[in-house]
Amino acid sequence: MSYLREALQARVGEFVALRRDIHQHPELAFEEHRTAALVAGKLEGWGYAVTRGIGGTGVVGTLVRGSGTRRLGLRADMDALPIAEASGQPWASTRPGLMHACGHDGHTAMLLAAARELAEQADFDGTLHLIFQPAEEGGGGALRMMEDGLFERFPCDAVFAMHNMPGVPQGHLVLREGAAMASSDYATITLTGVGGHGAMPQHTADPVVAAASLVMALQTVVSRNVDPLQAAVVTVGAVHAGQANNVIPASATLELSVRALDREVRTLLERRIHALAEAQAASYGVRAEVNWRRGYAVLCNTPAETAFAREVALELNGAARVTLQGPPLTGSEDFAFMLERVPGSYLFVGNGDAPGNCMVHNPGYDFNDDNIAVGSAYWVLLARRFLTAEGSEAAT
Ligand SMILES: [Zn+2]
Ligand SMILES: [Zn+2]
Repeated sequence: MSYLREALQARVGEFVALRRDIHQHPELAFEEHRTAALVAGKLEGWGYAVTRGIGGTGVVGTLVRGSGTRRLGLRADMDALPIAEASGQPWASTRPGLMHACGHDGHTAMLLAAARELAEQADFDGTLHLIFQPAEEGGGGALRMMEDGLFERFPCDAVFAMHNMPGVPQGHLVLREGAAMASSDYATITLTGVGGHGAMPQHTADPVVAAASLVMALQTVVSRNVDPLQAAVVTVGAVHAGQANNVIPASATLELSVRALDREVRTLLERRIHALAEAQAASYGVRAEVNWRRGYAVLCNTPAETAFAREVALELNGAARVTLQGPPLTGSEDFAFMLERVPGSYLFVGNGDAPGNCMVHNPGYDFNDDNIAVGSAYWVLLARRFLTAEGSEAAT
């Protein structure tokens, strides 16, 4: 498949420039107006039927070729982060305090490069939906698009998505069947007692001591309740209480991040955290209130679609540059919601493993433009293999 990569490499300059333009103009979740307009304009120019404003700033570009009945969805994300850039690149963010620190500028550019190739070559048979979503970074843009009828308006037999991965050799593809990224839930636990003089604790119900004990007790959820062969994370990332050394405050607040790679473990974590908060609070004579907010779901790559994606990756890259079953990650991704509705698979492309190669969400991070050719070639090949006349028959 080197000819495909070479074809895309030959005119990659246009998409490197596009990527850097998006990078210079980062936009936060649901504010991707400039980026969405740029995407929509390009797609229309190449002959796609474009639908704007799905789930806020989401864009879908649709292209139909031949008489095939198969329908494929490919997803990229468009949003940036509230981080002040320190990459030192000439194309660094022009907007203070905002940057593309997760490479979504690159994901958008890779899918656009594929979009142009697929439109111009027209060598597929079926329906192609290119999904450009807003607000992957915590805003649940995928879910918003789905609530806005994404899969009713643009039905897909399978959906695929790609994310860059720093620390992995540039262009190396990493796939995984099954749970690949964790669910992400949030809890605020408020402990309410009776405040008073720090010299006379006997007249108070001290929520600080209860909070300290609860932080320690919460560690036992993972160590004692979760199956040791399963993964889970309970992090107390913030503790807020009191203002003076001689005043016992009336309340204390804990902020939790809770992750799991299995739906049942996720439910167990929620149940045990509620139980511990209430029982610990009662034992100290204070009251606990747990505000639980469900975030992203566990991202589960379905077997048949992952097997298909592996074949595409191997054909494109060769076995030496493909990891067929990478490790699961405790990070989260809202493509998980799409995979709850439609089968599909999510993979990583290595962003490079040079010393100092920044992890995503680091102020020094930058997307590796060498991935635009390989990433777009992967999308083109995957679309061609999925939307074939042969595939159409298999689907009917
Ligand atoms: Zn991110
Ligand atoms: Zn990301």
